[in-house]
Amino acid sequence: MYFVSAFYKFKSVSESQVEHFRQDFYEYGISHRMLGLIILGTEGVNGTVAASEEAGLSSFKAHVQSLYGDVTFKDSQCEQKPFKRWSIKTRPEIVSLGDPSVIPDGKHNHLSPDEWDETLASEDVVVIDTRNSYETLLGQFEGAIDPEIEKFSEFPEWVDQSGIEKDKTVLMYCTGGIRCEKAIYTMQQRGYEKVFQLDGGILNYLKEKPDGRYQGECFVFDDRVAVDSDLKPSSQFKLCAKCGVPGDVRINCHCCDVEAVICRECDDVIEYPACSKDCEELVRRGVSRKQS
Ligand SMILES: [Zn+2]
Ligand SMILES: [Zn+2]
Repeated sequence: MYFVSAFYKFKSVSESQVEHFRQDFYEYGISHRMLGLIILGTEGVNGTVAASEEAGLSSFKAHVQSLYGDVTFKDSQCEQKPFKRWSIKTRPEIVSLGDPSVIPDGKHNHLSPDEWDETLASEDVVVIDTRNSYETLLGQFEGAIDPEIEKFSEFPEWVDQSGIEKDKTVLMYCTGGIRCEKAIYTMQQRGYEKVFQLDGGILNYLKEKPDGRYQGECFVFDDRVAVDSDLKPSSQFKLCAKCGVPGDVRINCHCCDVEAVICRECDDVIEYPACSKDCEELVRRGVSRKQS
């Protein structure tokens, strides 16, 4: 069993502290046999990590808090290794909006899952899904607007042409909350005053309300691809063997005959159904590795 946790914290630190934290996390992870990916920057930390024992994950969390102060963690569990390795990366932004000057305080305008549901039920609101289109495909809150962006840095431009009235109450959500921290700021800069985010994102919502208003699965940034409403790894989606986005179309490789998964877009255009680039090339050349 693997114990998985996603977390982020905006906290302004110096370049030399970032380097210090990078080494510290790297060594900690190697010596405690952690798996996962952590992104560090002068604006804070953003990561998803896994440990094979619950106690190991708890000590890691305490370690993160010793460096960054109070941090909220979103936990889940899975049988299979969710990451292949332990990696620590440094970036200008811990979530890329394309504007490193924006450092949210991470405190204001957060709605708990209960407050979120109450607001949805009682007010005339606009709901925005701030994730990328390959993520929204797997699941959404009913009635949410999908900006259909390929990457988060397209969000400000989308807001400009969205036509959403400035006096509207805007509710937004993402996987774990980090993108909305910057999305709120983006909208406030443009004159929106009543903008709120789902605290802890879909992951926190599903933990409290597996049978709530979120429909479908939630894309996650590791080998699980997605989690279902019980935060269990997706049995439906895998990464497309052809292009790498989540897919749920099952094919049999025309070369080696193993079952593979591709996405719906690739399924529409695929000429040589195959489980890998190598097999695709072989099928194209008319070679078959099927055992007959
Ligand atoms: Zn594809
Ligand atoms: Zn194959």
